[in-house]
Amino acid sequence: MHGFSVRTGGVSPSPYHSLNLGLSTEDAAEAVAENLRRLGQAAGLAGEIATAHQVHGDRILLAGPDGLREIFPATEPQADGADAVLALDAGVAAGVRAADCVPLLLYAEDRGAAAAVHSGWRSSRLSIAARAVRALQHAAGADPRRTLAAVGPCIGRCCYEVSTELASLFRARFGAEAADDPAANPKPHLDLRFCVEAALLQAGVPRDRIEQVEGCTSCDTTSFFSHRRDRGRTGRHLAFIEARAPSLEQPFL
Ligand SMILES: [Zn+2]
Repeated sequence: MHGFSVRTGGVSPSPYHSLNLGLSTEDAAEAVAENLRRLGQAAGLAGEIATAHQVHGDRILLAGPDGLREIFPATEPQADGADAVLALDAGVAAGVRAADCVPLLLYAEDRGAAAAVHSGWRSSRLSIAARAVRALQHAAGADPRRTLAAVGPCIGRCCYEVSTELASLFRARFGAEAADDPAANPKPHLDLRFCVEAALLQAGVPRDRIEQVEGCTSCDTTSFFSHRRDRGRTGRHLAFIEARAPSLEQPFL
């Protein structure tokens, strides 16, 4: 089971209306708890969704029966938290929260292992998508060629104006298609979806196993929260995925 939540179907009042799943907003905790319960029920999830405190870095955690533990450390100094969570054991679900950043779900169909990844521009610059593919390989023996990826609704190139410095940085890293040329356009737009897909391809995930789930969080006010559009006062979506048996850490005996 996996999915990307939209903003409808919850109980939160404006500006968090209605399915706000963010814990760090000023929305009432009881409303967020009820929204989470509704999501779990609609998705048929048995337990809780393991999530990390997200900090726009590239540290990766593994969700197990005793909670979260580090599987890949950060490559640069970052705040205490993580932006990707792996789930290896059947029935364990991992999730990430987002409202413009790219929510990415990975499923290693040869191992039943899964990962939820939060890839804003900072984590995208660090290719956290590729790191998560390697983490699945490292932790579960997953073959990147058999890994499925779903790139969820996020702020689209249509709405994501960035500095000329940032556009140049991403063009250097992921190619000219990643952003507008600052020499030709002083207000370049960045294509985060493209950068995440490029990182996945670099990690060995075949192009035909990468699905781009449509939707610009900034354009579509009915379906999505958008941190940039709503100037920070908005809700969060939750992208989640559940691991399936068997995994190498708990083989059938
Ligand atoms: Zn847009």
